[in-house]
Amino acid sequence: METKPSEMGLVARVANVGKYYGEGGHRVAALDDVSIGIRRGCFTAIMGPSGSGKSTLMHLMAGLDTPTTGRVWLGDDEITGLGDAALTQLRRRRIGFVFQSFNLVPTLDVMGNLRLPFELDGRKPDAAEQERINALVNYLGLDGRTTHRPHELSGGQQQRVAIARALATRPDVIFADEPTGALDSRTSREVLRLLRSAVTESGQSIAMVTHDPIAASHADRILFLADGRIVRDSGAMTAEQISATMLSLETAAA
Ligand code: ADP
Ligand code: MG
Repeated sequence: METKPSEMGLVARVANVGKYYGEGGHRVAALDDVSIGIRRGCFTAIMGPSGSGKSTLMHLMAGLDTPTTGRVWLGDDEITGLGDAALTQLRRRRIGFVFQSFNLVPTLDVMGNLRLPFELDGRKPDAAEQERINALVNYLGLDGRTTHRPHELSGGQQQRVAIARALATRPDVIFADEPTGALDSRTSREVLRLLRSAVTESGQSIAMVTHDPIAASHADRILFLADGRIVRDSGAMTAEQISATMLSLETAAA
């Protein structure tokens, strides 16, 4: 029997995954033979120069894309080869997403957006889940905003709604792709503190793609990608150390 990802302390895992585009001499490796796991209760940052494969890795782990080669697990379920319908259901039930562009539904108010993950799963939040949503609203300072629509909120407030939405279903893992990319530095810090406290205080597991060394300095673990491969797997680093590492990767790639 294979060791399960959960027995390795992992909430998501890829083994020998490759993602290749084009044929023959024109073949581009977006990801090349990557094996890595996202640890439970850990805030992991995925860094690397533009084009290094960060988004591809996140999309494969989240079942948003399928690898050319290799295997992918979400929790203890191997998702390699699952069809779209099964993948969509797994994503809705087990993953929270936070995007640079917030991705709130403009026609729904804040509470409507927070209830959406449940409704997409074909049900209403039960009493305990509604209680959790209310607690998140309070914790994220969104009281008095629940009947506002996204365009009536600041960028920082919209991202807090998106984080609350990602946390509401208690997902196994949250994937965040450049979550502070559209925010000013003060608001970014707030959002990073929220993600940090979701890990430290609520035991959430977060994988965050970023190219911002300050954002990555909030993480417990930093994976550096270059040319579709993981070139460094590090514990927490300062923003200065991360900048220096990024600079060396960019110089090596140039
Ligand atoms: P990052 O998120 O680190 O900027 P990506 O994962 O988006 O990098 O892309 C990694 C590499 O794969 C890049 O060289 C990119 O040009 C290439 N790539 C990504 N998607 C496609 C695609 N649909 N067709 C061809 N090449 C792609
Ligand atoms: Mg990207």
